[in-house]
Amino acid sequence: MSDVNTLNSSPFPVGPTPRRQTRAAVISWGNKHVQVGGGAPVVVQSMTNTDTADAIATAIQVKELALAGSELVRITVNTPEAAAEVPKIREQLDKMGMDVPLVGDFHYNGHKLLTMYPECAQALSKYRINPGNMGGGKKRDDNFAQMIEVAANYNKAVRIGVNWGSLDQDLMARMMDENNKRQKPWSAQAVMREALVISAISNARRAEELGLAKNKIVLSCKVSHVQDLISVYRNLSAQCDYPLHLGLTEAGMGSKGIVASTAALSVLLQEGIGDTIRISLTPEPGGDRRKEVIVAQEILQTMGLRAFTPMVVACPGCGRTSSTFFQELADSIQTYLREQMPVWRLQYPGVETMNVAVMGCVVNGPGESRHADIGISLPGTGEVPSAPVFIDGERTVTLKGDSIAQEFQQIVLDYVQRRYGAKTISST
Ligand code: SF4
Repeated sequence: MSDVNTLNSSPFPVGPTPRRQTRAAVISWGNKHVQVGGGAPVVVQSMTNTDTADAIATAIQVKELALAGSELVRITVNTPEAAAEVPKIREQLDKMGMDVPLVGDFHYNGHKLLTMYPECAQALSKYRINPGNMGGGKKRDDNFAQMIEVAANYNKAVRIGVNWGSLDQDLMARMMDENNKRQKPWSAQAVMREALVISAISNARRAEELGLAKNKIVLSCKVSHVQDLISVYRNLSAQCDYPLHLGLTEAGMGSKGIVASTAALSVLLQEGIGDTIRISLTPEPGGDRRKEVIVAQEILQTMGLRAFTPMVVACPGCGRTSSTFFQELADSIQTYLREQMPVWRLQYPGVETMNVAVMGCVVNGPGESRHADIGISLPGTGEVPSAPVFIDGERTVTLKGDSIAQEFQQIVLDYVQRRYGAKTISST
């Protein structure tokens, strides 16, 4: 892991600005807890896309997301059938030994579902409430109060999640009227950004007045444009000390979704803003939902904020590499490392900070490999067909022949056992 925050005595300081001071929000299930904010590491979360009324399919996906490293998993609770299944999902997870809190995502009818299905209200660890999707006027106020009352009674955390696609229209209309009276009216976009922040903070304060504990509130204000998100969160963080959930909503598919989310979240995290993150990627048809967890982890790890999985440094390849062998080796080693992590993170504490280099030729191969904990420099076109391996900066063995990939994987495993195995705490 990089040495962020360790070089700040140098003329060129490295690392993010100190984390914004927030209250802690405590999310509990059974006798376990996850803390969001209050100086805790930035928490990774994700959301299922199964039908919650299908308890088995949902429990399986929650398990997959949790094993990939999601520390909170949100599920849709949109119908009586879904609410009725939530306790069974929790039960399945407990039977599978999955230590992960469930968050219920409510819109429109959350007040009814949480009241009519007390076992659902109890099984969830946190409720996501969208004040813009609760009706208007007194009805909205009553519905909001009803949900907060349930949360307070069961001692559950709440995320007040405002979204520009469902912003409180009464508030927006009122603010537009006030804006029109300004000598120099703001743009509608600027009023919308301000309205998001006001909606989130005013609803959080009302939740406290209604009896929700101070350490049970997280806020979010999601928009789908990078610059809007940065602006909204800077404003939000300057005006309150609630812990903040970061995410670019409707980020999109493939590289666009990853790049947009990374661009927005990196700026905010670098400024010390953000206590929990979710990457809202649209999966390819039949795609792997765990990708949003992996991207969230990689953002935090490449920024040096947390470590989750050993990282593979690989060169891009060029005209000096005439085969795809080194790309395949880099890919297979990264996949191998990620697949081992559910077990390794228990058996080999600290392994998540390990760096592995897979390089394509002699130009940067030996140098980069020496900087890694363990590295291999494969032969480029015209080079002697051998691959020196470097461990802790020292050249050790040279691999040749058809089984370089398998031999290198075994060397990595031996290194992990030797270096991190002494700290074994438990494999249960
Ligand atoms: S290390 Fe060699 S193969 Fe890789 S990009 Fe550099 S010159 Fe090309």
